[in-house]
Amino acid sequence: MKKLSKLAIHGGQPVRKTFLPYGKQWVSDDDVEAVVETLTSDFLTTGPKIDQFEEELAKYVGAKYGVAFANGTAALHAACFAAGVGEGDEVITTPMTFAATANSILYQRATPVFSDTNPDTWNMDLQKVRSLITDQTKAILPVDYMGNPCNYQELLKIAQDHDLTIIEDAAHALGATDHGRKVGSISDLTMFSFHPVKQITTGEGGIVTTNRQDYYEKLIQFRTHGMTRDSSKLLENHGPWYYEMQFLGFNYRMTDLQAALGISQLKKLDSFIQRRKQIAKKYHEAFQLLSPIQTSNLPNGCDSSWHLYVIRLKLEELTTDRKTIFTALQHENIGVNVHYIPVYYQPYYQHLGYKKGICPNVEQLYEEIITLPLFPAMSNEDVENVITAIQKVIEHYAK
Ligand SMILES: *Cc1c(COP(=O)(O)O)cnc(C)c1O
Repeated sequence: MKKLSKLAIHGGQPVRKTFLPYGKQWVSDDDVEAVVETLTSDFLTTGPKIDQFEEELAKYVGAKYGVAFANGTAALHAACFAAGVGEGDEVITTPMTFAATANSILYQRATPVFSDTNPDTWNMDLQKVRSLITDQTKAILPVDYMGNPCNYQELLKIAQDHDLTIIEDAAHALGATDHGRKVGSISDLTMFSFHPVKQITTGEGGIVTTNRQDYYEKLIQFRTHGMTRDSSKLLENHGPWYYEMQFLGFNYRMTDLQAALGISQLKKLDSFIQRRKQIAKKYHEAFQLLSPIQTSNLPNGCDSSWHLYVIRLKLEELTTDRKTIFTALQHENIGVNVHYIPVYYQPYYQHLGYKKGICPNVEQLYEEIITLPLFPAMSNEDVENVITAIQKVIEHYAK
């Protein structure tokens, strides 16, 4: 079965001529029209498109409120602020994520506490989360890794038992459900990102959804320097021009141009997810036949939004390491990636005093994972190319 054809890394023909990225937006004529229409309207920054986008997205996920931000990281920072996370607080999160997750805790001068992941789902291990709770714990910040929601039934119970807030990083999980509930309606505060590789895009952009009015009001004010014009909140009132800056906020606003793109993209979200699901299914079926590859398990009762397709190499069945396989796939013109380098491996976190070894499951996973291309605009031929390249490379290095 070995050596279907010579690997590109050894000078053979690559499986495809052009490079296939791991993720990519899908922008079409209707999106372009929507943005151009707004560009020539009266509002470029916060205008009617922001309100409409917030309303429509909140409605889609089944939340009362949505507050749009300049990017997902800003949105997550705002969510930490709204939850009252501050100096001296601990927030339990996962290291199997993009640095922005833990950074948003640091922005509020609080301490990220890293929980290990469950070896089956690769999401936070809730047993471990329980063991990390102290008197300083203020919130739990789970990540719905790859688009698979954490076990929120259990997580909500933990939060309730210890009076903690759940701030959900759902940057991967727009459109996903957990036990029939849409992500965005479950946690106290939920963040989504609209970076081009995510389910829908606004260029840069993010949103926080919540059911609580007090959180909503804080998010709105945080987004605009901590300022308000709401007469019911003002300490003084000098006249119709008057506004007050009541705490230190930021300029974290999304533009109306971005919101117009978001509204147009949202119409296509369900079809985008359907296509992602189809591709994931094809991968799944093909890789069941390749013993050195383990595909991820979907947690019970979940419907994934399939942001990432991650395979895990069973290194004991291979003659080489992840780095060689990764490089060989790149040579075949397949845009592979690794999600993620454990956050606390980063020099900045090492400098803060986090030691390697604190989350053994995450560290092992990191040595064995490769992310494959997955985005709705992939053609069937693109999908076949990925499968062929995986077969070619894995069979070459299989023991
Ligand atoms: C994309 C992403 C973010 C940050 O979103 P931006 O919009 O790029 O700021 C945060 N957390 C996770 C897990 C992400 O994948």
